[in-house]
This record gives sequence, C-alpha cells and structure tokens, in this order.
Amino acid sequence: MRVLITGGAGFIGSHLCDRFLSDSHRVVAVDNLITGTQDNISHLAGNRHFEFVYHDVSNFIHLPGQIDAVLHFASPASPIDYLKYPIQTLKVGALGTHNALGLARAKRARFLLASTSEVYGDPKVHPQSEDYAGNVDPVGPRGVYDEAKRYAEALVMAYHRQHGMDTRIVRIFNTYGPRMRLDDGRVVPNFVGQAIRGEALTVYGDGSQTRCFQFIDDLVEGVVRLLDSGFVEPVNIGTTREVSILDFAKVVNRVSANPAGIVFDDGLRIDGDPQTRKPDASRAHDLLDWRPQVALEDGLTRTIAYFRQVINATT
Ligand code: NAD
Ligand code: UDP
Repeated sequence: MRVLITGGAGFIGSHLCDRFLSDSHRVVAVDNLITGTQDNISHLAGNRHFEFVYHDVSNFIHLPGQIDAVLHFASPASPIDYLKYPIQTLKVGALGTHNALGLARAKRARFLLASTSEVYGDPKVHPQSEDYAGNVDPVGPRGVYDEAKRYAEALVMAYHRQHGMDTRIVRIFNTYGPRMRLDDGRVVPNFVGQAIRGEALTVYGDGSQTRCFQFIDDLVEGVVRLLDSGFVEPVNIGTTREVSILDFAKVVNRVSANPAGIVFDDGLRIDGDPQTRKPDASRAHDLLDWRPQVALEDGLTRTIAYFRQVINATT
C-alpha cells in the first residue's frame, strides 16, 4: 500500500510511519510541524519508501499518485497545545478532516480517523463504552478539542453513509512513549522530565483523578488491526489498568529512583479535567483480538531512557 499519514511528524504519527514502513508499505507523512518536529522522522530521511510533505491539512491537500489508505492523525493533542492553538485545533478537526476525507474519496482509499477518549468529556458512565454519548462542555476550555473530534467523527460517518466510503474511527485513550515532546505539558513528559532532573512531581489537584496509560507500541498494533478489520463503528483502544494520578506519580518516582517526592499544585489544572477515564475495551478485544502487551513499568522504563537522551543532548 501507499499510505498517507497526516500528523506524521508527531508522536503517534511518527511511530505509525515506522510501523507501515517495516510492514513493507510506502508512506507519505504530511505535517505542518505546529506541535510535531522533523526530529521524529529524521531517521527516515533517505528511505526511498518514505516522503515528507510540509503542509497544513486544513487547506486543500494535493497529492499526486495512488493512495490506498489515509490515516488522519493531524491535530494538537496535549491540553496546553490545544489551549494555545484553539482555532487551529477546531480547523484541523473540521476542515482538516474534510480535506483528508475528500482526498481519500478521490483516491478510493480506506480512511481512518484518530479520535479520542475526550469525546466522552468528563464521563458520567464508567468505564466508557463506545455507545456512551459523553458529557462534553462545548464552551469549556477543552471544548475546542472535544467538539472538533466529535464533529470529525460525525463527518466520517456521513462520508461512510452518503458515499459508501470504507472508514474507521479509533478512540485513543492516554498513550505515552518515546517522541512525546518534553514540554508538551502532558502528565507523562512532565513527570518523567521532573524525575530525571531530580525534582518533585507536580500533581494537579489532590491526584484522585484517574487515567489508563497505554504504551505507544500497543496503540500502533491496535490501529493496524482496526485498519485491517472491516469495522466502521468507533473502537476504543486503551488499557484498562486505571491509576490515580497520585499513584501514577509514585510509580514514576519508583521506576526512575527519584527521591524528590511529590508536590500538589492546583494552579495549572485545566477546568473540565476529567475526574475518571477508563475504556471498556471489549470491542477491541472481541473484534480485533487486541490486548495491550506492555506493562506500565516497562513502558515507563523505555520512556525514561528516551527522555534522558533528550535532556542530555540539550544540557
Ligand atoms: P502530536 O502533537 O505529537 O502530533 C500531532 C501532529 O499533527 C504534529 O506533528 C502536528 O504538527 C501535526 N498537525 C497538527 N495540526 C496540523 C495541520 N493543520 N496540518 C498538518 N499537520 C498538523 O500529538 P499525538 O499525541 O501524536 O496525537 C496524534 C493524534 O492522536 C491526534 O489526532 C490526537 O488527537 C490523537 N490522540 C492522541 C492521544 C494521546 O494520548 N497521545 C490520545 C487521544 C487521541
Ligand atoms: N497532571 C498532573 N500534573 C502534571 C500534568 C498533568 O497532575 O504535571 C494531571 C492532569 O490534571 C490530568 C492528568 O494528569 O488529570 C492527565 O493529564 P494530561 O495532560 O496528560 O492528559 P489528559 O488525560 O487530561 O488529556
């Protein structure tokens, strides 16, 4: 296949580029580098099966030649990124998804949307299964991201229903690993960066809010399986090991041997921060035979090693 990955220079997108290349496909990564970096794909320079196109996919996408699959991953994804770029986030979810769908339709390509557990907002149902419609505040600070993704999902289903397009929607739960930006503000780079520098970890609020953290390799496997499946309805991909942020901080300190402890800081917590989040992953288990393979401690060890290199290279 020749596969187009929007957001291909980002954290997840760059790992997808690696996976599709190693599966003997050709890859075109399109990215405007708003939150990503060419460092994530610099190891692919010179690979004749890989092309990078610098482009904002909220504008019309012109791409000559055959394309067999479009994976639309372009979007700011970290809360501080989408608060910094609220209009760009809404545009890439709306116009970017429209352009990526239009291209896929013109090329008769399969289409996969990177959606998010944020479509469930601050959920009132726990765990969240795909038929839960969510609890999103459209005018809250996170609304720009949540509503962009909800609109994107609606658009994908409209193209499927009206044009008979072969589409997929993956609802991604918290994913971490090498190539996250150290300063992207998400809890994993924040905590790991602080731990490597020997600083106390900043837990927002009382740390009772929960998340489920999956390692990047597990997500990539789920995305590949979903693309290969014939399943059009949304599918959650995420681990079901739920941890409070306070316990997560303790795990990071233990794995990194950081003696500096924890500080509680409510100042940086963003309004609407979901109190709980955990996927009902039975659809991914049953349909895709997908189960996460990487334990939190192992994934963190690999992520800490990556961030150590990044910090050593810049100091
Ligand atoms: P990221 O910021 O590392 O990657 C996003 C990439 O998209 C960046 O390289 C950025 O420059 C690019 N981009 C943004 N707007 C663009 C535009 N208009 N045109 C072209 N490129 C553009 O974030 P990530 O964590 O890799 O997230 C990738 C995708 O996965 C996003 O769609 C995000 O919503 C989704 N997702 C991620 C997570 C997670 O835990 N990491 C969870 C749920 C959903
Ligand atoms: N968080 C924290 N300290 C930090 C960064 C984040 O306690 O330094 C908390 C944040 O309030 C949220 C959770 O960690 O409850 C996950 O935040 P993240 O930004 O990684 O992603 P989210 O799941 O909220 O989209």
